Amino acid sequence: MSDLQAKIDQRRYSDNIPHPRAGSQQNFFAADPNLAFLLERYLPAPMHDWAKQQLGWLGAHAAGPLDERAAYTDRDGKPHLRKYNRLGEDVSEIITNEGYKQTVADVYGAGIVHYLYHDIPELGFKAPYSYSFLLGYLVSQTEPGFYCPVTLTMSAAYLIDKYGDEQQKEQYLSGLTSRDRRSLYEGATWLTERQGGSDVGANLTVAKPTAGKPGVYQLTGEKFFASNAGAMVATVLARIDDSKPGTKGLGLFLVPWVRPDGTRNQIEVRRLKDKLGVNAVPSAEVLLHGAEGYLIGQPENGFKYMAEALNLSRICNAIASVGIMRRALYEAKYYASERRAFQKPIDQYPMVREMLVNLLLDTEVSTGAVFDMIAVYDRVQDGSGGRDNLALCRLLIPLLKYRTGEEAVEAAHTAIEIHGGNGFIEEYVTPRLLRDAQVLTVWEGTSNILALDILRVMQKENSHAVLIRLLRSRAAGWHHAFSRPFAQLLQSELAVLEENIAYLLQQSPDYLSYKLKALADHMIDLYTLSCIVSEAEDQLLRDNNARKYVLAKLYANKHLLPKTKRGIQGDELLDVHFFRELLDYEPIPLEALQQQSAFLFAT
Ligand SMILES: Cc1cc2nc3c(=O)[nH]c(=O)nc-3n(C[C@H](O)[C@H](O)[C@H](O)COP(=O)(O)OP(=O)(O)OC[C@H]3O[C@@H](n4cnc5c(N)ncnc54)[C@H](O)[C@@H]3O)c2cc1C
Repeated sequence: MSDLQAKIDQRRYSDNIPHPRAGSQQNFFAADPNLAFLLERYLPAPMHDWAKQQLGWLGAHAAGPLDERAAYTDRDGKPHLRKYNRLGEDVSEIITNEGYKQTVADVYGAGIVHYLYHDIPELGFKAPYSYSFLLGYLVSQTEPGFYCPVTLTMSAAYLIDKYGDEQQKEQYLSGLTSRDRRSLYEGATWLTERQGGSDVGANLTVAKPTAGKPGVYQLTGEKFFASNAGAMVATVLARIDDSKPGTKGLGLFLVPWVRPDGTRNQIEVRRLKDKLGVNAVPSAEVLLHGAEGYLIGQPENGFKYMAEALNLSRICNAIASVGIMRRALYEAKYYASERRAFQKPIDQYPMVREMLVNLLLDTEVSTGAVFDMIAVYDRVQDGSGGRDNLALCRLLIPLLKYRTGEEAVEAAHTAIEIHGGNGFIEEYVTPRLLRDAQVLTVWEGTSNILALDILRVMQKENSHAVLIRLLRSRAAGWHHAFSRPFAQLLQSELAVLEENIAYLLQQSPDYLSYKLKALADHMIDLYTLSCIVSEAEDQLLRDNNARKYVLAKLYANKHLLPKTKRGIQGDELLDVHFFRELLDYEPIPLEALQQQSAFLFAT
């Protein structure tokens, strides 16, 4: 017995429990060659070297101090509310920890919002959104909760820049786009009320004009989910016209936390929500007691403006989702290579390989699709895209927000599964990934609401026709023999999609809405396939590397191709066969693929 105890006492932490990696030696950018691939694909060439340096810095920072602070904030350093001062007066102050404040300084300091509005000194021009989202992808791998305030700040800046008057711009825009924490104004967007979040038209908060002060209103009501409470610039929807029900009567207001004369605005935080995840962001119940607000743009267009900002924050949501997926993969891959079971590292087992490659597949392919969609968004924002790009954007954004949100939850779940029991323990990042991922399917529109939005843009803007045209021209433009079967698959699936749309648009509203998510899934599958095949063709032509064709094939197998005999017989197990090359981002020569019967057509 004492022998056994001695043996137990001698055990070391590292006995088959993969040792934590030193964050200071990790770099989320360097570990992810696909990110450099996307950077070169979507950023203008003069930005490449500079952007790689910046992302290299942020990648190291995200894996190191940002990550340590994120873990602390989540477990022990959540924001809290100081409700009253010592005189018993309501002060509704939100207190965040020092590390969180440093993360604010680091991330805004990297220019995540600033360079969208100001020239990059070294380059002499502004950054496209793609650049900001590359940074966001790295931040989300470590602190998706904090990426929410960044998103809200980006949205507030967008609204003031595009629809604010000169005075609003002068007073708030430089703060919203500042790199310096001391002069930074963070943003917030408050729509949701207790009677309805999806149903924004049910909003009851009212805005009454202040006598003698044109454009100044007093807002009274309750906002039931107000993330980043305490931010200087809240953009708030409130009913400005009682005679117009629903969203038509809603105006958009800039509600400052502190009024221009330095006094506190009439905003009370009733409490902070006790949440499942994204603990870094304070989400509050807010009461507006005649709070001073400044009308943004035209009174009747409030909801329209907010819908535009919502599109931007939905892209951020998709970025947070793929960021979480990438982190899930990063952790699971390492753990599986170090953990042994039955005398072998677990990543040598085919079932584990299948799980890891599936995780990689969802992550890499969806990340590519998200950045492809962001390129369309950039064209709309810089004015180089016409009406088609706008219609496409309005369709692709809800599609990809929907898909990536669901995938992020699945990815976090898979990472836990690969870790076994340890994955369930809060000393690992995996539980936090799952808790944080779960909100991504809810906020900025639930999956059902996204599906309804998709129908709306189809009916109003015929956006599905634009998508179908784009995909047809992509398929026709692929040159390599390896792309040919994907082109055929895409063309035949597009015919099915068209037929289904024509059919559904003639059905009863209930039948139509019941089938909307299935329709959305089909559209996403086809768009995403077109993205990965385009990437594959480019990578092959550029580097003679056929690795992404394996991903394209796995994607088609997973989402589009029928599984005869439930996929059990005659599977070549491409994922197991090319496991190393896929997971380590190593090149796969054309010849190696041609030996697989799945690619025999190209020999
Ligand atoms: C942590 C957190 C932070 C948040 N921060 C903010 C914020 O800063 N600002 C803000 O404005 N909001 C915020 N929200 C609110 C969030 O946007 C809403 O919770 C979300 O939009 C869903 O609204 P709801 O909660 O009212 O759900 P409901 O609208 O009640 O929906 C409940 C369910 O019914 C479904 N449903 C509703 N209508 C339909 C329909 N017509 N057809 C089919 N299904 C339907 C939904 O899909 C969902 O599954 C936050 C939420 C969370 C959890």
